[in-house]
Amino acid sequence: MAQVQLRFYEELNDFLAPALRKISFMHDFDRRSSIKDMIESFGVPHPEVEIILVNGNPVDFSYIVQNGDCVSVYPMFESLDVSPLVRLRPAPLRTPRFILDTNLGRLARYLRLLGFDCLYRNDYSDREVASIADEKQRTVLTRDRALLQHRIITHGYFVREVRPRLQVKEILFRFDLYRLVDPFSRCIRCNGTLQAVDKQAIEDQLEPKTKKYYDRFRICSICGQIYWQGSHYGRAQRLVGALTGTPADNTNR
Ligand SMILES: [Zn+2]
Repeated sequence: MAQVQLRFYEELNDFLAPALRKISFMHDFDRRSSIKDMIESFGVPHPEVEIILVNGNPVDFSYIVQNGDCVSVYPMFESLDVSPLVRLRPAPLRTPRFILDTNLGRLARYLRLLGFDCLYRNDYSDREVASIADEKQRTVLTRDRALLQHRIITHGYFVREVRPRLQVKEILFRFDLYRLVDPFSRCIRCNGTLQAVDKQAIEDQLEPKTKKYYDRFRICSICGQIYWQGSHYGRAQRLVGALTGTPADNTNR
């Protein structure tokens, strides 16, 4: 039987059994194990982990745990100055782009409303989510820890909140997205980007009242959905204000 000393830092403790939170504890093991598998055996998905120190030295996920090791596990975005250490991945993905698992449809719509690139389908399998995240360099958002344990996922985040509006605030805060909010720039339905379109070009698709009272329109580059500042617009603006914590303004876009 071999033994290691383990300690998880900051929000990684969210995943641990209460008795193991924020303390160093001993763990017995009898099988050869990578550090990735050992960490995940405590319920901590590897994409949440940014740095692992073994006896003070950084290691990657493939490190094989040795008897007597002293292991410290740090989350992404830890505020400690870790620049001299080797991070497990180069950097946060530069432009935030997400793929959401099937249970987070409302969150996907809200984030699209705020202008963020969010792939979402209610029929994605876990395997599809993982491989799309890998191929397209997207960050997985999920409430399913097992999904985050897929080895090919390098960027992923376990959403703690249950209520969609609180989830939005959590994501904005966690990924520091406030300055990138760009409401009404993306299609809520399909994630396509919106472009201004001449009224004449789409006139035949408009209801008579819409045609009479509105002059500025935008169209989704993918699904062709037309958007204008109709009666629903004030409600959407208030929703944007609620989601971003700012009072609704009268930005005319
Ligand atoms: Zn669309």
